[in-house]
Amino acid sequence: MHKKLFIPGPTEVAPDVLQKMATPMIGHRSKDASNLQREITEKLRKVMYTANPILLSTSSGSGLMEGSIRSLTAKRAIVFSVGAFGNRWFKMAEANNVPADKCESEMGQPTTPEMVDKYLATGKYDVMTVTHNETSTGVMNPVEEIAEVRKKYPDVLWLLDAVSSMAGIKIEVDRLGVDVCITSTQKALALPPGMAICSVTPRALEHGKQVKHRGWYLDLLELYKYVETKDHQYSATPSLSHMFALNYQLDRILAEGLENRYARHKAMAEYTREWATKHFSLFPNPKYASQTLTTINNTVNMSVKGLNDALGKLGMQISNGYGDLKEKTFRIAHMGELTLNDIKEVTAAIERIIPTLK
Ligand SMILES: *Cc1c(COP(=O)(O)O)cnc(C)c1O
Repeated sequence: MHKKLFIPGPTEVAPDVLQKMATPMIGHRSKDASNLQREITEKLRKVMYTANPILLSTSSGSGLMEGSIRSLTAKRAIVFSVGAFGNRWFKMAEANNVPADKCESEMGQPTTPEMVDKYLATGKYDVMTVTHNETSTGVMNPVEEIAEVRKKYPDVLWLLDAVSSMAGIKIEVDRLGVDVCITSTQKALALPPGMAICSVTPRALEHGKQVKHRGWYLDLLELYKYVETKDHQYSATPSLSHMFALNYQLDRILAEGLENRYARHKAMAEYTREWATKHFSLFPNPKYASQTLTTINNTVNMSVKGLNDALGKLGMQISNGYGDLKEKTFRIAHMGELTLNDIKEVTAAIERIIPTLK
């Protein structure tokens, strides 16, 4: 039996989108491949509110996180971390010999504009990274406020991890002044895992020229070179199957209407938070609670694994806490193809199951 996924990736994929993954192959150096990339770019620009180039990488979201910090940091990066994925970005910097510092918030709390101001004022950094939506703690960072303070430091490149939020809430990349905005297929875009996506500003690509060892496969400049000079192609063979499905899914997303899509996500988030507050409590500071997933404190001390096993028998799956929070919290994702009815169904099932757990 297929379990409906209420986990923060991979998420549910609509059957017709899944079917597009089975499109017969084309040559990746063909005119058709160029057209496919170009069409995807035009549609993604709408979803990301950007006029900048769009790059696809056949990797999960981590690929472009690693590629961007490595290929664009010429001086030193400041990594603002609010949990597991911010910490991952810092580890990537270290693993690639990229000079970096980390500013870590308390678990459940956001990156504040004051933190950004404090670090950027030192003049030590040419790159800053921010997690838009931290999938471990369920914190969504105040990017509007961060964008405001960052205006004082226009030369610092801003890399934003929007992997688990893009297409679930409006992120106006160009208006915010984000240089590299990263997402991937298997979260709110609701496609199978395997492709990372980013927008990139021309000035970021220019800045990257100063970096001597940018790697190759995930080097943003190398990825862009082929898009620019080889008519929207890639230096290595991309996952064409993902591209067929992505092109089709973007049509579905635009047909739903972006505002309608955000409203659907907002309604699911509000319902989940209200329910979680009534029966348990929220893990993140409620002011910064995410619109695409809710991290909930296990205040009743139940076995999260037991809960998930029981849900599994009903054809549903939620997520346990991330890392150290495994049994202390649980997470319900409300993104991608899910609807308010799905959320009502899973939350009602949890209420029924809890008294049966030992
Ligand atoms: C899923 C996710 C990523 C990417 O993780 P992968 O393991 O590469 O898919 C990055 N950042 C956030 C916030 C995520 O939720």
